[in-house]
Amino acid sequence: MTVIRTELGDITAKHYADAIVNAANESLLGGGGVDGAIHRAAGPELLAECRMLNGCKTGQAKITKAYRLPCNYVIYTVGPVWHGGTHSEAELLTSCYRHSLELAMEYGIRSVAFPSISTGVYSYPVQQAAEIAVQTVRAVVEEHPEAFDEILWVLFDERTKLVYAGELQKC
Ligand code: ADP
Repeated sequence: MTVIRTELGDITAKHYADAIVNAANESLLGGGGVDGAIHRAAGPELLAECRMLNGCKTGQAKITKAYRLPCNYVIYTVGPVWHGGTHSEAELLTSCYRHSLELAMEYGIRSVAFPSISTGVYSYPVQQAAEIAVQTVRAVVEEHPEAFDEILWVLFDERTKLVYAGELQKC
């Protein structure tokens, strides 16, 4: 049984899971939002390891150690920038969740904490992003029922949390 849930909070502030996911940009060299918070909390060694990854394409995922963060790994995924929904945004966001969880499975990671990928600076509408996030996580868990103990979203504001929690209540 995999627990799938949401929590309000700062993803860098305490131990939520073996791996936290960073909503990164293609350079993997840091940015604002959750990316900036993760680099600040992890310390400069994180950026040094990121420099060796040669970036990450939109919809793909990469992984590093977590240094001073209260988890073991950081998984980086690059969400799509919202351009109105006609530029493969939904497929790319699906791919972000799927590739992040596949990478976690390769590393034997049994719990994963996601932020709300793409709904900050990248402007993806929260309701539509939450539908894709929940559908994709549920699909991966159905395909791999033994792989994960827990998958959660750590959401930074009450409104986003309500939307994801509402999506999880639908069956
Ligand atoms: P993107 O560029 O993919 O849109 P952002 O970092 O701009 O990524 O925003 C993604 C989400 O992460 C937003 O809901 C934002 O409020 C949230 N966020 C920002 N800082 C944190 C944090 N420390 N912990 C969890 N979520 C965060």
